[in-house]
Amino acid sequence: MSEITKEIKEQINKRRTFAIISHPDAGKTTLTEKFLLYGGAINQAGSVKGKATARHAVSDWMEIEKERGISVTSSVLQFNYGGYCINILDTPGHQDFSEDTYRTLMAADSAVMVIDASKGVEAQTRKLFKVCTMRHIPIFTFINKMDREAMDTFELLDDIENELGIATCPVNWPIGSGKNFKGVYDRATKEIELFSDTKKGTTQGQVKKVPLGDPEVTWLIDESQRLQLMEEIELQDGAGAEFDQELVSKGELSPVFFGSALTNFGVETFLEHFLKMTTSPLPRISDQGEIDPMKEEAFSAFVFKIQANMNKAHRDRIAFMRICSGAFEAGMEVFHIQGGKKVRLSQPQQMMASERKMIDRAYGGDIIGVFDPGIFSIGDTLTTSAKKYAYEGIPTFAPEHFARVRQVDTMKRKQFIKGINQIAQEGAIQIFQEYNTGMEEIIVGVVGVLQFDVLKYRLENEYNVEIRMDSLPYEHIRWIENEEINLDKLVGTSDMKKIKDLKGRPLLLFVNDWSVRMTLERNEGLILSEFGKA
Ligand code: GDP
Repeated sequence: MSEITKEIKEQINKRRTFAIISHPDAGKTTLTEKFLLYGGAINQAGSVKGKATARHAVSDWMEIEKERGISVTSSVLQFNYGGYCINILDTPGHQDFSEDTYRTLMAADSAVMVIDASKGVEAQTRKLFKVCTMRHIPIFTFINKMDREAMDTFELLDDIENELGIATCPVNWPIGSGKNFKGVYDRATKEIELFSDTKKGTTQGQVKKVPLGDPEVTWLIDESQRLQLMEEIELQDGAGAEFDQELVSKGELSPVFFGSALTNFGVETFLEHFLKMTTSPLPRISDQGEIDPMKEEAFSAFVFKIQANMNKAHRDRIAFMRICSGAFEAGMEVFHIQGGKKVRLSQPQQMMASERKMIDRAYGGDIIGVFDPGIFSIGDTLTTSAKKYAYEGIPTFAPEHFARVRQVDTMKRKQFIKGINQIAQEGAIQIFQEYNTGMEEIIVGVVGVLQFDVLKYRLENEYNVEIRMDSLPYEHIRWIENEEINLDKLVGTSDMKKIKDLKGRPLLLFVNDWSVRMTLERNEGLILSEFGKA
């Protein structure tokens, strides 16, 4: 076998592929934009998302996107900074939160968690965090909006540790917040980075670093604030976890940074530290063992997202894949493991800042979208390796909204079943059936409610089937890990519902958390999981 080329090795080595996770409004978009600003990919903040009209030019893929002015898709942004080639995976939030949001995390090598300093850990962050810990990837914390009144610093750190169960290690420490925000203290260099105005972040601003004892500090930071800082630092030094790169790499310790994305403060500092502490593309598990991008010369990738085109005239789909090893070249022939045949990958695309563009070459760590004639499924592997290995599949994530769905016109049963199955195959929805009732009704589960609208719209427009949806009160779904358990004998709560997926695997639906706990208590040995096996 020929050696992996120097060019490929260098290219992969400089790649950093990460996702930003946060609760809506914590500042993910603003932070992403500032990263691009520092990377020189955009000239002015405000050009990534923002005005609906500008957005339409970029993405005319989905009617719903246009109608609602929001993005149903998650995209990837690539830019260069400090010798690194950075891929930011955008995780859709707000109303467009969906299973894709979770799947995107499967393509990342690390995650940046943005937390609003006045709110601490919020619901959506908690959900996304769970997926990150499942993969043991490094997680970095950016505590944002320090220019606003913030929670006490210790309280914030405690919140992360208690809510998420990860140890924290502040790299810097904030001096005041809101009107009294003066900057951050770098615990390693013992320097203070002074907060400066950047015209609301539209310019890069000068980072001013001065030693703690500098006269300028005495002038800007009053005695009481300085004493408080010293006291806090002493406390933290004595009681907090020490920085340990190995624990960071395993996702057991999260380095914490403080800043204000809106005013640019702390963004570049974060970026610099983060890029050093995070990892280049990691080895991935396949059915033939670990595939290491530093050893494997062949191209290999797995599909983590499928984007249907909602334009009737173009029924094609785009399959997004994460390249795990080797190099990709436009038009190259690769082996599609699950399909059992060779395919040519055409129309490769990548997102550069806010533009979608065609690409010729990409490397391990990169994300590309290719034309999909309807042959790919989530989790599929593509490779040029003669070994024909398959990467570990992508789990199914717990939907939180459920509805009973049926076609209005009973004559259209066939189209309805075909359509709903195809849409489920793309991974936009999950479909279930009643357990042992003999009823043919279909229960649809989605991670984000917008997916119900997508389903309705697509069935009407692509399959010419009108549907009726009756929402169900369940919010929690659990896969039964020990499938040998006799479902007929299982004693649940009165609101619990037994269902099965298309492969006949048993699942349970619950209205609330309490019912999940009660059911576990009442059935000794029962193991429930929030993730479905791939
Ligand atoms: P996302 O929903 O997480 O993508 O959040 P956005 O980036 O859209 O930010 C939500 C709101 O918070 C917007 O109005 C931002 O201007 C504002 N915001 C973001 N970062 C900061 C910050 O550091 N300070 C202040 N004061 N506001 C911020």
